[in-house]
Amino acid sequence: MQTMPLTTLGHFIGGRPVEGASGRSGDVYDPATGQLARRVAFAGADEVDAAVRAARSALAEWSETPPLRRATVLFRFRELILRDADRIAALITAEHGKTLADARGEVQRGLEVVEFACGIPHLLKGDVTENVAREVDSVAVRQPLGVCVGITPFNFPAMVPMWMFPIALACGNTFVLKPSEKDPSPAIELAKLLTEAGLPNGVFNVVNGDREAVQALLEHPGVAAISFVGSTPVAEHVYRTGTQHGKRVQALGGAKNHLVVMPDADLDQAVDALMGAAFGSAGERCMAISIAVAVGDETADALIERLSTRVRELRVGPGTLPEVEMGPLVTGEHYAKVRSYVDAGVEEGAQLVVDGRASREESWGDGFFLGGSVFDRVTPEMRIYRDEIFGPVLGIVRVHTVDEALRLCNEHPFGNGVAIFTRDGGTARTFAHRVQIGMVGINVPIPVPMAFHSFGGWKRSLFGDHAIHGAEGVRFYTRLKTITARWPETRSGPEFTFPTTT
Ligand code: NAD
Repeated sequence: MQTMPLTTLGHFIGGRPVEGASGRSGDVYDPATGQLARRVAFAGADEVDAAVRAARSALAEWSETPPLRRATVLFRFRELILRDADRIAALITAEHGKTLADARGEVQRGLEVVEFACGIPHLLKGDVTENVAREVDSVAVRQPLGVCVGITPFNFPAMVPMWMFPIALACGNTFVLKPSEKDPSPAIELAKLLTEAGLPNGVFNVVNGDREAVQALLEHPGVAAISFVGSTPVAEHVYRTGTQHGKRVQALGGAKNHLVVMPDADLDQAVDALMGAAFGSAGERCMAISIAVAVGDETADALIERLSTRVRELRVGPGTLPEVEMGPLVTGEHYAKVRSYVDAGVEEGAQLVVDGRASREESWGDGFFLGGSVFDRVTPEMRIYRDEIFGPVLGIVRVHTVDEALRLCNEHPFGNGVAIFTRDGGTARTFAHRVQIGMVGINVPIPVPMAFHSFGGWKRSLFGDHAIHGAEGVRFYTRLKTITARWPETRSGPEFTFPTTT
């Protein structure tokens, strides 16, 4: 059999694709076959510098372009994404492994941020107060920051970049994106579409790479702000290093999201919700539910009975097949890590009700497939409770009261998302009010805010002061300037006291 030579994906700098020059590269796999699909160039400090320089030279012209004209480019970009949505989704599935329908959903959620950013002329309107003193007016405006950087994770290779750059660009910044090295192709396609939409060269750049490229971006004096989404240890490092170098940083980290099932919940609805939220995208979502908290033993027993049958029947296979519900994990390394957590849960004494390691279908070949696992009687000291596993492993914790459930959620170091399933409005209201978590769902398992709201967790799920997209996005990507102006009709002479209105 003749094998095709592997291609190496490069960078996108100054409006065109650029080959890697550092001599370093990484492997990109097709997770459904386990085969090496291509290589990706790893940028060194020089290539990062070239991208930041390109973004800096485009800044003066782009930041002075009227917001309405900037929005025009985004309107065209929106049309191009719609035109190419299936192609981008196919690229996501090929490198990430999620199902095509899920990948299409990811593109749609990213697109909604583009649509939000198209409203930038309205979003950037400032505040004016006439006559703050006699013949004096105050105007507050928001101006762009400069070169903004996005560093993104593997699990949403198109959507997470689109949480960032549409708003950053609409606000008049230029941008350098460093996508995940595990599935880098969608980012390069987005760069090409932006250019096709008429974005001037250098306004949007992509550098591929690993921690070396990230470090160069964190330290680069030409970078004004950094948006990061990824795991908590890296988020914390990015936040500390970026702010030490004088940059504005928002760094979104990992998660361990709980779904509380009350005794009065509609159990069928809760089971449906858990199936999608725990096993959709093979659990590789920062808003995945990885812990179900059952209030009362009766609730727990009924939940497990219905859930375990459904998990055993999960249709696992290549994301390109329409009947498949759950695709493979992203890499062999990640597969081994998730599997080792199932081993650890057994060793720690949790009760393995469904063992995702047990099944191995012939059609899976060497793909990174792992079936869904369910553990009962998980306790807070276990590693499978404390750590983010980021795979198709659901733990069930049994508690007696809603207060106990609330305490569990509040004591967990992560604070990204949480959900409660109940028919009681009072219980839901009190829970939502008291829970120390950034995004709360009531009978909604994955409460991901829409583009015109903002996305962000609490505690060790977000470092920095701003959540992402929506109004928070506009605030993050701009800084405030307040102009006080006097155009006097009459001359009042010098004033030596501190100005007041009297
Ligand atoms: P990751 O932290 O390994 O990688 C994220 C980015 O950081 C990548 O671009 C990677 O190249 C870079 N990176 C990795 N290690 C680095 C290091 N040591 N120094 C500097 N840069 C480094 O995350 P991942 O595995 O790609 O993505 C999964 C994680 O992302 C999960 O923890 C998930 O919860 C989290 N996530 C969070 C959100 C959110 O909104 N809070 C959204 C999506 C994913």
